[in-house]
Parts: sequence; structure tokens; C-alpha cells
Amino acid sequence: MNRAEIRSRIRSRSAAWDIVVAGGGATGVGVAIDAATRGYDVLLLEQSDFGKGASSRSTKLVHGGVRYLEHGDLSLVMEALKERGLLLRNAPHLVRNLGFVVPRYDWWEAPFYGIGLKIYDLLAGKYGFGASRILSLEQTREYLPTVELEGLRGGVLYFDGQFDDSRLLINLVATAFEQGATLLNYAAVEALTRDAQGYVNGVVAVDAESGEEFRATAKVVINATGAFGDNLRRKADAAAVPMIAPSQGIHLVFNRGFLPGATAIMVPHTSDGRVMFAIPWHGHTLVGTTDTPIAEPALEPVAMEEEVDFLLSTASRYLAGKPTRADVLSVFAGIRPLVRAGAGAKTAALSRDHVVHIDKSGLVTICGGKWTTYRKMAEDCVNQAATLAQLEERASITSRLNIHGFHDSSENFGDLAVYGADAPAILKLADEEPSLATRLHPGLPYIAAEVVWAVRQEMARTVEDVLARRTRALFLNSRAALEMAPAVAELMARELGAGEAWKTHQLTAFEAIASNYQLHRGG
Ligand SMILES: Cc1cc2nc3c(=O)[nH]c(=O)nc-3n(C[C@H](O)[C@H](O)[C@H](O)COP(=O)(O)OP(=O)(O)OC[C@H]3O[C@@H](n4cnc5c(N)ncnc54)[C@H](O)[C@@H]3O)c2cc1C
Repeated sequence: MNRAEIRSRIRSRSAAWDIVVAGGGATGVGVAIDAATRGYDVLLLEQSDFGKGASSRSTKLVHGGVRYLEHGDLSLVMEALKERGLLLRNAPHLVRNLGFVVPRYDWWEAPFYGIGLKIYDLLAGKYGFGASRILSLEQTREYLPTVELEGLRGGVLYFDGQFDDSRLLINLVATAFEQGATLLNYAAVEALTRDAQGYVNGVVAVDAESGEEFRATAKVVINATGAFGDNLRRKADAAAVPMIAPSQGIHLVFNRGFLPGATAIMVPHTSDGRVMFAIPWHGHTLVGTTDTPIAEPALEPVAMEEEVDFLLSTASRYLAGKPTRADVLSVFAGIRPLVRAGAGAKTAALSRDHVVHIDKSGLVTICGGKWTTYRKMAEDCVNQAATLAQLEERASITSRLNIHGFHDSSENFGDLAVYGADAPAILKLADEEPSLATRLHPGLPYIAAEVVWAVRQEMARTVEDVLARRTRALFLNSRAALEMAPAVAELMARELGAGEAWKTHQLTAFEAIASNYQLHRGG
């Protein structure tokens, strides 16, 4: 994963790629892996860092989606539950089984959620994570020592998956490289090229680091740009009818004290009919999410005041600690690339199913779905793209493909567990140069060796890449991340051979980004 080498590989290539993918989130990288493992020649271009979009901003659940049961979308839930099981098998270092308790404050909730969650268990079949069960008041208090007790009657326990989204994405990028794909970050697709018949036959992209424009021709171009999907479609056909309904969701992060146990809380019906989770994640408490339709997607979305107020007031109803604005360590927003329904439909009610759409120009767009189903989305998309491009027919093999870092007992690596099989190499860096064993902040577990590793092995190019997506510092505690930034810039500059001007620019840029992850007084 050496960027300069990849740039020259792309520059020296004159033949058409089988597939060019625009977008380096879960969907695009999933497509690159699926295509490469089938033996197709694939190039992926990401305008920013891998995972900059929704794929680093999720609730971090690998789940079937309990709430879609209510919509009667059983096949969607079943498909996601199967993918949940496959992901646990293929990336055990990053996915774990987590208990969730639905607290019960009304008499009817025990039979209602109890039966619903039994159906959830049944739909998982052999991919099940454990049997759900109704809990007494006493048991509920044991699982959730900080749950609001007033009016509490008991709970219902069920199991789902949890993961670290951007860590998995970086491991997927590594997997794609290992399978022979070529991927480049900081390379935006600016235009699409067409053949004499008007069919899309390649892309024009710009390398954000050098400003250089380059072209790549392809037998088929796949648009996996998430919430930005319609923008790219309009580059092929200015009159393309929009198919994406972008919807913003935010999360608040608090210290672990608000939810000190090992169990999450699931609230199936908030005051406005949404679902809310409070989840233990990387030694903190993650609360989310909202579902707010927005007009235009942004690369760095910002939480709205109403969203923050809604989460704080809902969290206060279920957490005895009643978190306030002053307790928020970080707030982050993401945009779901949902598939549009008829005018006026609520985004919370839109299906999370995915769609592969082929425009008249031959541009293939994959959108919708969710992180959990990225593999299946990729498989369906490559099936259709290969047919369209008349590539030799080959079956997908990703359901049994180990993801980079695969390790059965990575918890033995302690704070480096998320690196799985890569952890010993990071420890070796710290062994060889003891200063790299230093923690970068007293409140977070990250050590200097991880920064060096991110630059050398994971294509991190900016301070933000390291603090937001190679480590999760910015998402866990934005002030701590700001305090770490100078040391990270120093370590990165040394690796990249960059000077003072680079460091200053990086720190200014990071301060601006980090400000979006903080709640401002009165604002
Ligand atoms: C708040 C929230 C919570 C969620 N929680 C969960 C959850 O718990 N579990 C779950 O399974 N799913 C969850 N999801 C859904 C999941 O995160 C998304 O479905 C998934 O990440 C979408 O991936 P993607 O690759 O399609 O989009 P993205 O991750 O947004 O990737 C698209 C990429 O395309 C790039 N791009 C755009 N234009 C161009 C261009 N012209 N050239 C090159 N690159 C371009 C962008 O920079 C971006 O990186 C959640 C989503 C949100 C927003």
C-alpha cells in the first residue's frame, strides 16, 4: 500500500481496466475485493481517504436490523443476519458478539419484544449469535447497572454484532490489494469518458496531492460513491432522475461511566418513533442515532442542534446518569445513502435494501444497503457489471474469504486487538524504537508505533486520516485528538519526509475538522 508506487502503476497503464470503481467506502472496496477475487482487473479511486464517508460514521453494528422486522421485511433481515455470521467468521478480530437489552417500562413490552426477538433468532438459523430471553427486573439491573430504574419492569436480552467500521474498511483495502486490485485515495473522479456510441468507457480523475489529472479507461465503470451517487450519475446524464435520499444520522460519545457494563441498550421506539442505541465501544459509551432527511450530502457533515438535543433527552430517559452537553466527548455525523421512495416518504421508513441500477449510459450505480451487507451488495453488483461488460463469467468467492488481519484470538493483543494478525508487527516497531511505545494521550490507548504503521502500511496521508480512521481518537474524544495532533504530525512528517509547512498546514486543517466533533457553548 505505497501511494507513489500505485500512482506510477496507474500512470504506466495504457490497457483498459475490466472495472473502474468510484468511491472507497465499504461498498466500493467490497466491489474491488469481489471483482479482484474473481480475477478481474480492477481500479478503485476514492476522492478523499478510504472510509471518509458513511463507512466510518456508523453505529458500529453488524446486525440484521431488529426494527425491519416491524416493517415485515423478513428476507432483508434474514440476508443481513447471514452476512452478520459470515463477517464474524471472516473477520473475527474485528467483529464481536454483543448482548443488547431492551428495557421494559410497559406491561405489553415483554410479550411484544420477546416474540419479535425470537423471530429474529429464528431468522438467523445456523448463523445465530445466541438465544434471546426475557429478563426479570433484577437481571436487567445486573446487565445494565446504570439504567433508569423508575418504572422499570425488566428487559429482553438479545445478541447482535459489533465492530470497528473504519478499521474493518482499512483491512478490506489491504485485502483488495492482496487479491490484486489497485486502489488510490485522494483521487476524485471528476468526469466520465464516453465511446462513439455514448457509453461510459472510463473516468477522468484528479490526484489531490499533485493536482495532476489522469484518465483510466474501463470496460465498465461502477459508481459506489454512496450519498454522492446522483452527482456522478449526472456527469453521465445531466437529466438522470435522482435515486438517492440522503439522510443524516449523528452519534454522541460519552465516557464509559454512563454504561459501565458489557451490555448495550436498545430502545426500539423513541418519542418520535426511531430506534436508539447506547453501546459500549472502545472504552466509551456511544449513543445514536438520528434520521434527518437532508437536501445535499456533505463530505464532512455537521450535527444539527435539534439532533443533539433529541439524543441527549432520549438518553436521559434511559440512563440514570442523565448525560448533558458538558459530558459529550465527541459528536459525529454521517449520511446514509438511502434509496428514494415516493415523494414525502420518511427516511426512517425507507428500506435499507440495496439497488444495482444501470443508466442508459452504461454507468452502474450501487447504493442503499448497509455496512453489514457490503459483501452481498458487492457480489450482486459485480454479477451485473460483469454481464454488462461481457467479462468471462466467474462466481463470487468472498463468502469464505478471510479478511486481512484475520486472527482467532486477537484479544490477546490487548489494546492492539483490532489489528489482529498485524499486531505483532506493530509491537516489533515499538520494540526496535522504544520511543514508539509511548502513548500519545493519557486518556486513549494509542501508541506512536500505530502512527508509523498507518503511514507505512495503511496509506494514511493526513493527520486526520490517522486520528479519525486508522485510530478512532477523533470519534472517541475530540479534545484528546486535538492534543495528540502535534505529536502525530511530527511522526508523520518524519515518515513522509515532509517539512514545517506541511505540519503547520496539517494542524490547521485538523483543528477545523475537529471543531465539527465538539459541541460549542450555546451553539
Ligand atoms: C448514522 C449512520 C449509522 C449507521 N449505522 C450502521 C450500522 O450500525 N450498521 C450497518 O450495517 N450500517 C450502518 N449504517 C450504514 C452504513 O454506514 C452505510 O450503508 C455504508 O457505510 C455505505 O457505504 P458506501 O461505501 O456506500 O458509502 P460511503 O462510505 O459514504 O462511501 C462513498 C465514498 O465515495 C467517495 N466519493 C464520492 N464522490 C466521489 C468521486 N467523485 N470520486 C471518488 N470518490 C468519491 C466518498 O468520499 C466516500 O468515501 C449507518 C449509516 C449512518 C449514516
